[in-house]
Amino acid sequence: FSRRPPDYLEGLNEEQRDAVLSTEGPLLVLAGAGTGKTRVLTTRIAHILSTRMARGAEILSVTFTNKAAREMKERIGSLVGSSVEGMPWLGTFHSISARILRRHAELVDLRSDFTILDTDDQIRLIKQLLAAENIDEKRWPARQFAGMLDAWKNRGLLPRDVSEADAGFFANGKGKKLYADYQARLKVLNAADFGDLLLECIRLFREQPDVLAEYHRRFRYMLVDEYQDSNVAQYLWLRLLAQGKPASEANICVVGDDDQSIYGWRGAEVDNILRFEKDFPGAKVIKLERNYRSTSNILSAASHLIAHNESRLGKTLQTDVGERGETVAVTSVWDSEEEARQIGEDIEQLQRNGEALDSMAILVRASFQMREFEERFITLGLNYRVVGGPRFYERREIRDALAYLRLVSNFTDDLAFERIVNVPKRGLGDTTVKVLMGTARHQNVPLTTATRMLIETEDLKPKQRTTLRELLAQFDDWAERSRSIPHAELAEQILDESGYTAMWQADKAPDSPGRLENLKELVRSMEEFETLGGFLEHISLVMDRDSADSDDAVSIMTLHSAKGLEFNTVFLPGWEEGLFPHQRALDESGRAGLEEERRLAYVGITRARKRAKISLAQNRRIHGLWQSAIPSRFLDELPADAVEVKDTGSSYGGYGYGGGASSRFNQVDPFDSVYETPGWQRAQRQRENRKSPGPMTIDGELVAKSVSDPGTSSAFSLGET
Ligand code: ATP
Ligand code: MG
Repeated sequence: FSRRPPDYLEGLNEEQRDAVLSTEGPLLVLAGAGTGKTRVLTTRIAHILSTRMARGAEILSVTFTNKAAREMKERIGSLVGSSVEGMPWLGTFHSISARILRRHAELVDLRSDFTILDTDDQIRLIKQLLAAENIDEKRWPARQFAGMLDAWKNRGLLPRDVSEADAGFFANGKGKKLYADYQARLKVLNAADFGDLLLECIRLFREQPDVLAEYHRRFRYMLVDEYQDSNVAQYLWLRLLAQGKPASEANICVVGDDDQSIYGWRGAEVDNILRFEKDFPGAKVIKLERNYRSTSNILSAASHLIAHNESRLGKTLQTDVGERGETVAVTSVWDSEEEARQIGEDIEQLQRNGEALDSMAILVRASFQMREFEERFITLGLNYRVVGGPRFYERREIRDALAYLRLVSNFTDDLAFERIVNVPKRGLGDTTVKVLMGTARHQNVPLTTATRMLIETEDLKPKQRTTLRELLAQFDDWAERSRSIPHAELAEQILDESGYTAMWQADKAPDSPGRLENLKELVRSMEEFETLGGFLEHISLVMDRDSADSDDAVSIMTLHSAKGLEFNTVFLPGWEEGLFPHQRALDESGRAGLEEERRLAYVGITRARKRAKISLAQNRRIHGLWQSAIPSRFLDELPADAVEVKDTGSSYGGYGYGGGASSRFNQVDPFDSVYETPGWQRAQRQRENRKSPGPMTIDGELVAKSVSDPGTSSAFSLGET
């Protein structure tokens, strides 16, 4: 160590430096968005490496995504120079656990080449177990059980730990046994599901003290990013690994922000933050209060909004970016099509001003919102990339639905036929399909023709023949109808009559409601086309688009996948009641659900460095009917002086209004809403949101004593001033 501090410490503020240099003993960094938590972790690793306190292989660092792990490695490399050695234990909880399990597979009854099951495999396995137990899958869906398994595993519960009360109701008392059978079956298959990666690691650590001791010796330092979104199993896992030393001496550093906890619906426990101080007595707690990311207008908007949450640990945030910057724009447009057009124009304008597409992102609440943007950008020839998921038209449910439509418009589309012949399940297994394909090849005819031939022969079992005959009759019927009724309507009938919609309705997986939304969006998008053929033509052009992502592209992603990232410009569309906050979160989790939605809004706004542009549509078209949407309650919670409200919808002959922005936005009767916001929620919301959250400072200046403070006006009173 020379007297001059090393380069990597330069530019850090005092608290950040403290967090980097406090390498010994437990440390909790609790701080708001953009305060440099991730940067502290990266610098801390650089410090440990360059002062030779430990080698790369002796540091365990947990990131939330694999992408974040890669970025962190690069950053460390650039901080300590190219000589940075490998960091094999830098990754997600799951990737690190998988690595550990492979090294000791035999101790958890697996072989080191065990497979990691995906959701589909998992469902198939559960179905087999249900069948073996004569459990009616209609009453006790496999997906529901998969959800239960997931919840147990998130809480670190092995079959023996699950209480009868918890498991008992499923299949009339068979839940616990099914869990045990399922685990046993995985071993036979030499497989682990996603949840097992952690759970089996925990079991390994508990049952094999020697193995655990090996890791205690190995991991001299432990670091965890996005700690607020860890679940119980992850917490247990960390605690076991930290037990090599007395708790008060463990070299474990976790960083997080309770206001950014957005995975409660997946078992994350923000209480882990509180538990940390209890389990690691004497833990040092460092708060970072200087935000280096956003302008003060953006920060003010985010802080005001999040102040409406009651369950908070309480933190202060001040901007370090000197300027107030642009105001946060709230634009009300006529519908989602205009929203996409508007954002497209804004992006092109920013581009002309020299902003890279790379520095812009559109953050949506629900994936169905992506379609409108993708189409608009394709029309404009704007490069975009969908981050953290497939593009709209590449989603499974969309491809399935399109396969039905393609087949209706063209009976020779074999790929489409193959895709949906047994989706939803009709008891037409691979064997049947092979027979169909064999005949088609032999006779050199399309699959539908081969099927017509085969149902008259004995080559198929009577049951399959009947099913196929009915299916063909349905397709004939739909093709007939396609000449007389509007194709969007037809599409809806097809999805209903084929049982496809019902399949996802019955599906209890957490992503099923989103898939149903996507299907509705698909039907809605068809209304813009004259003919079914025209629509399908359009789709094939859209799908054919060169998927080689150029480096410079606008990112489109969900708010959930935007965690930890930052962009110069962030577009936040769809701020309407029912969509954001999402109705499902409100219905299923009430007040807690609303607070998690608000944290999601906070995450969204705080991704922006220079510009946050919120928008909302006044109308949504559902089933060809225009319905009014209510502006999101979150808009009421933004501070007037940081926000500018625009309404472009009026030029389309929207509602007449005379008052300010508030009355303009809030004219709609909630009971007319497409999302059917129950009246009680609206009433409750008025009460809830008036609670006082405590003082708030921006740039060292007190901007609000509390939100109920009459001195603080909301964005909606802006129009009246
Ligand atoms: P989030 O809660 O969103 O994950 P974070 O607390 O992890 O945010 P970082 O991503 O580490 O924050 O930092 C936010 C931005 O501020 C980054 O661009 C980072 O490089 C920059 N930054 C952090 N600390 C400093 C500093 N001391 N000086 C200048 N820039 C800084
Ligand atoms: Mg971070």
